[in-house]
Amino acid sequence: MTKNDLMNTLESQRLAFNQNPYPSWAARKSKLIKLGQVIAAHEKEFQKAISHDFGNRAVQETTLTEMLVIKAGISHALKHTKHWMRRRKVATALPYKMGSSQIVPQPLGVVGIISPWNYPLQLAIMPLIGALGAGNRVMIKPSEFTPELSKLMKKVLATVFTDDEVYVAIGGVDVAKTFSSLPFDHLVFTGSTDVGRMVAGAAAKNLTPVTLELGGKSPVIIDDTADMDLTTTRIANGKLMNAGQTCVAPDYILMAADKIDGFTKSMINKAETFYPTIAANPDYTSIISDGHYARLQDLLEDAENKGARIHTAGSDDKQQLAKERRVPLSIVTNTAPDMRIMQEEIFGPLLPIVASDSLEHAMDYIGEKARPLALYWFGNDRKKRERVLTESISGGVSINEIAWHLVQENLPFGGVGPSGMGAYHGEHGFKTFSHMKGVFIQSRFSAGKMLMPPYTDKTSMIFKLMKKIM
Ligand code: NAD
Repeated sequence: MTKNDLMNTLESQRLAFNQNPYPSWAARKSKLIKLGQVIAAHEKEFQKAISHDFGNRAVQETTLTEMLVIKAGISHALKHTKHWMRRRKVATALPYKMGSSQIVPQPLGVVGIISPWNYPLQLAIMPLIGALGAGNRVMIKPSEFTPELSKLMKKVLATVFTDDEVYVAIGGVDVAKTFSSLPFDHLVFTGSTDVGRMVAGAAAKNLTPVTLELGGKSPVIIDDTADMDLTTTRIANGKLMNAGQTCVAPDYILMAADKIDGFTKSMINKAETFYPTIAANPDYTSIISDGHYARLQDLLEDAENKGARIHTAGSDDKQQLAKERRVPLSIVTNTAPDMRIMQEEIFGPLLPIVASDSLEHAMDYIGEKARPLALYWFGNDRKKRERVLTESISGGVSINEIAWHLVQENLPFGGVGPSGMGAYHGEHGFKTFSHMKGVFIQSRFSAGKMLMPPYTDKTSMIFKLMKKIM
């Protein structure tokens, strides 16, 4: 796929958009309904393709993290987009009161979506829902790490959308680079912070606005008041979903030194209850590629060489695990800042612990690092919870839970600083993919004449009056 091919598609989408720059609610609704139907109709094929691309992923996990999230996104959009499309009348300042002011949401034109491999369907379709609801045309570049899914998504979407409505561009990093250099009206990138930086640079050349949904190290603070059994159940579940290959997965734990042993034992116990075996267990997800598998092994080896202790769930045969690219939950204690596991986003089922005996220490530790995509706090002390909510900066927060803020349609989903820029989901997505145009409508009678030259003493008097009432 050459730059010319991509440019031609973009131009045909823009032409089609220009011929119909404000699709009616009925037209948008029909697209959202078709999207929902065609995805539901191919659910089994999507589950199979994703499992094939990973090596293994449970059908149930794909249902929960991809199909149901998409279903909820489409239902919410169908219920509310008509209302989001309305013109919002806003108050007009006193001196200009003869006229009126309103905000007119307008489609942007052609939106580009670059998506990652970890939730390969959901992270392409959720921005698509927002972009279609807002009345745009869309081009998608899915990840090269999930070739079966990407091919299937292209085939399935092409059965209900013409190329000038929704187009899927298949290819590797070279295609992704070209894609990010196209003059879209908006570009959404979901992926790593390093690549996000390059995408933002490429988009800046066209002054294309970007939404960056990036990664990073999402911390969990466990307060002394936390119910340990409930906490480990939820953290083990959240961490092991998709074998830790989740942007909002807990990356490391901050907790009191004297509770680390109990926490570690309980986490291993929970992991072994969820997954009595790991090799050949259809419920346990494989690591996406040999490269990522080797990266996780290197992180463990580096930590161990620098004095960490590794506590591993299960007793599966190591060779079998390697063959299936499966990594058991590995709790890492005795950590130190110079370990790579404490510096890089983990994106796998490894969970280091940092001893932290006070909330001050935990907040300082997090505050000195790059702003995370998610932050978790477990505990039952309202005052401390409030402090965490008001004084820490992260993309989003779940309290006494992992990741659930992400599936709340009324919450914006996005990062902050190195974990991202902008947000989408629900109405936040509609606004991201719309131009919220400010409009002033002047009345036949207006005080504006009094502000026009030639300037006289009367003008000065009017200025005086305006200063008083403004
Ligand atoms: P990645 O950055 O390697 O790739 C993402 C996409 O970018 C792929 O489609 C790829 O083809 C494309 N790409 C690669 N190089 C490019 C370049 N030079 N220019 C333009 N595009 C390029 O990320 P990944 O490995 O697929 O996904 C994992 C990362 O994504 C993690 O850091 C994770 O935290 C993050 N992530 C974030 C979210 C979120 O919503 N914030 C969700 C999922 C994953």
